[in-house]
Amino acid sequence: MNLEPGVAVDAFRFGAVPNISMYFLTHFHSDHYGGLSQTWTHGKIYCSEITGRLVMQQLRVSPEFVVMLPLNERLELGKFAVTLIDANHCPGSVLFLFETPRQRILHTGDFRASPAHITHPSIRNKHIDSLYLDTTYLSPKYAFPHQADVVDSCAEVCYKLTHDADFARRVMSRKSEGNQGLMKKLLASIAKQDVAVGKWLIIVGTYSIGKERMAIGIAKKIGAKIFAPPNKRRIYTCLQDPVLDALLTSDPLEGQVHLVSLQEIRPDTLSAYLDQFKPHYSSIVGFRPTGWTYKPPVARGATPKATPSVETVTNLWHSPFSESDMVPSRGSTQTVMYYDIPYSEHSSFRDLTCFCTSLQIGRVIPTVNVGTQASRDQMRMWFDKWGAERRRLGLRKVADSQTRW
Ligand SMILES: [Zn+2]
Repeated sequence: MNLEPGVAVDAFRFGAVPNISMYFLTHFHSDHYGGLSQTWTHGKIYCSEITGRLVMQQLRVSPEFVVMLPLNERLELGKFAVTLIDANHCPGSVLFLFETPRQRILHTGDFRASPAHITHPSIRNKHIDSLYLDTTYLSPKYAFPHQADVVDSCAEVCYKLTHDADFARRVMSRKSEGNQGLMKKLLASIAKQDVAVGKWLIIVGTYSIGKERMAIGIAKKIGAKIFAPPNKRRIYTCLQDPVLDALLTSDPLEGQVHLVSLQEIRPDTLSAYLDQFKPHYSSIVGFRPTGWTYKPPVARGATPKATPSVETVTNLWHSPFSESDMVPSRGSTQTVMYYDIPYSEHSSFRDLTCFCTSLQIGRVIPTVNVGTQASRDQMRMWFDKWGAERRRLGLRKVADSQTRW
């Protein structure tokens, strides 16, 4: 990063980097902290308080190398200042805003861009000379819905499963839509099965941290507690999140919502998972959150090569989502159900488009999918389009009270 000599962001895998003395860490995901361990002695690590506690506890990095900084405060660090801004990614994740008398650099780490980033007092009306951008989903095909809509929809599915004994049968018939003959056969076969009765076990797949909002949303909706295995609960102590803490339990029978690792959620493993807790639970539903399961309407033409206008993307690509859009994945039955859900903690293509047309930006440097020239060219095309749109129409307006693009 071309800030001051001596500063690096999320660059630990190279060991000691010549002339680098200040190492910044945006968040606690292994593709960003990779290389950090208890033997780290190459320089101070600057990060948020949550990330700092995780680095010390989980990686055993010596506290003398960890500098935990508060959010939303402009902090002078010698020749430059830095402000940490909530990234809306996983707990503890931040954007770094670096400022020198000559330039302003915003490094997003991983983030899900939201209006709150644009209206943040440290960013609003400021010119960003260089933007290091999380380009994980910078392609028109990544048109997934707003995160809150996905959480609400999953919570609604769980509420109906736990309150309506016939809901599982009805929802299973959804997947045959579009093929009348097959649908009749399937409905007939479903009707012959016994209607599921008894208690549902709900499991949500997560990485080490991230996706907790899904489990919290479901637990609140159905008035349940959340069980997590000991290794996860130990990680969660670092978050110091009173909402999550109040819902957590160490008893898998008391916690109707289980947070488990993503690998454990596959259609063929759900049955075995349920067997451990029978007869307390008699049915199971698993949610596997990933960003790229959403299929936008075909008419939208959202293919990787599509080049819709910026106005089309910002005005029309809202990707509404509700419980009725949720269809159980292949292999589901009335008592073992499985959903891939378009829950993402990275920006959608529309989020990125709105963010980059609301902000005065000098140049954009992509941080993800930079491996091939073709991919870099494709991203550059969008950066240029966004720049042209800013010059043509001025900055997109974002109100202080706005929570959605
Ligand atoms: Zn991440």
